[in-house]
Amino acid sequence: MTKRITIAIDGPAGAGKSTLARRIAAKLGYVYVDSGAMYRAVALWALRANVALSDMHRLEQLANAAHIEFAPGGGAVLLNDEDVTSAIRTPEVSQAASEVSLVPAVRRALVQKQREIGEQVSIVMEGRDIGTVVFPDATVKIFLDAIPEERATRRANEVALPPEIVERQIRERDQRDRGRAESPLVQAPDAVYVDTTGLGIEEVEAVILKIIRDRTSNGRERTQ
Ligand code: C5P
Repeated sequence: MTKRITIAIDGPAGAGKSTLARRIAAKLGYVYVDSGAMYRAVALWALRANVALSDMHRLEQLANAAHIEFAPGGGAVLLNDEDVTSAIRTPEVSQAASEVSLVPAVRRALVQKQREIGEQVSIVMEGRDIGTVVFPDATVKIFLDAIPEERATRRANEVALPPEIVERQIRERDQRDRGRAESPLVQAPDAVYVDTTGLGIEEVEAVILKIIRDRTSNGRERTQ
């Protein structure tokens, strides 16, 4: 018998979630899902449509209407059939996504879409509330973290901005993510905390793969 496996990876911006989740999904043959890209896609649509980020009703409509797809292989993100992979990575969209994600009805709409994906296939999904809200019964939950300075340096290299500016931006986003009333960024009690400070991708990947193997080979969860 085969059973669907759900790996939840949560943590703050710049902790390495995307890179690691993508690699681990490829290694295990699971589907990689970037839940942050879904908040970013709704934010992009709102910015383009001149919807005020305070207009909860319109934001809810956009989140419900958004057709968000991930191209196979964990590469492209499609919003209403348009490839928005790079358009959703600008600093403006990062900021707007963080604001859009405060709206409870937007979260409800996107959580539903995330659960629909997880009902069909084995996944590695990364975000802020995957182990706490989206999949409280996930097979494995990882909380990935690193000190703020290191997270800022990693992000700064990705977006080609000075580390001081990026550090301020991610501190602001973290504060909003941790402080919001609805689904705040918090470690699930049964998540394994992994501090990636000073570690390379391969080292962290090995740590996470071991956690997954231990958890899925104990006779209870392991099914293939
Ligand atoms: O992960 P990423 O930085 O791309 O996410 C963009 C924003 O979307 C985050 O700052 C966060 O506010 C929001 N988000 C969220 N819940 C998730 C994933 C992302 O609130 N599961």
